[in-house]
Amino acid sequence: MDFTGKVVVITGSARGIGRTIAEVFARHGARVVICDLDSAAIEQVASQIGGGAIGVKADVTNSSDVAALFESTISELGRVDIVVNNAGITRDGLMVRMDEKDWDMVLDINLKGAFLVTKTAGKIMMKQRYGRIINISSIVGVTGNAGQANYSASKAGLIGLTKSAAKELAARSITVNAVAPGFIETEMTREMPEAAREDFLKRVPIRRPGTPDDVASAVMFLASDEASYVTGQVLTVDGGLTM
Ligand code: NAP
Repeated sequence: MDFTGKVVVITGSARGIGRTIAEVFARHGARVVICDLDSAAIEQVASQIGGGAIGVKADVTNSSDVAALFESTISELGRVDIVVNNAGITRDGLMVRMDEKDWDMVLDINLKGAFLVTKTAGKIMMKQRYGRIINISSIVGVTGNAGQANYSASKAGLIGLTKSAAKELAARSITVNAVAPGFIETEMTREMPEAAREDFLKRVPIRRPGTPDDVASAVMFLASDEASYVTGQVLTVDGGLTM
């Protein structure tokens, strides 16, 4: 796939799945914008990726930061073709014991953050009459998961946001889709207890955990011109776990 000349903004891209998505787009010719919370990490990743990548510090829950992210992108790179809403966190715990602040924080970053980014990018893309928005949801947004009421609700909400935005933006040649990963090896899943990891992996028909590259490949497809007739969909990348 060739993304030469395309500008791609990826939130939460200083590490994990977001960083891999940024690397893969850059390898295929795109100019990428690394957006995350830690300035030093952002600059390091942008310089390692090369290919004209730039870094912008932005907290996706802050509407001023999000506005500044897209102002910098337009002033430095001139347009916004592809946005990947990848920033996300977990604050796991059984629902009856879950702190309200853990609920609020997860919903704020995983769902409100994607809303602010999609709203701001959507306005630019509407003027361009072109765009691709890809939201990183999760299989637990479809299946639910004990100990992840906040996270599952945020990821289910992201699917609702994906479908509504897809309907609102389709007439301007903007597609909005979600990718729902299963168990992917990153720092997020390394925090899981060993027994829970093993139990999860035993149920994966393709007998291995997913990699950030597996997710990046799905994102690339949805961002490509070949996927121009695909919108409002959820592409599951879970080794067959939820089929
Ligand atoms: P990760 O390694 O924890 O990376 C998440 C990144 O998002 C971090 O760099 C983090 O920055 C950043 N971030 C957090 N809050 C932010 C904010 N308010 N504004 C901007 N950036 C922020 O996670 P990952 O495993 O790569 O996950 C990436 C996405 O995939 C998430 O949406 C996650 O829910 C989803 N997902 C992951 C899996 C999996 O198995 N790993 C499965 C399904 C879905 P800091 O490091 O500074 O906090």
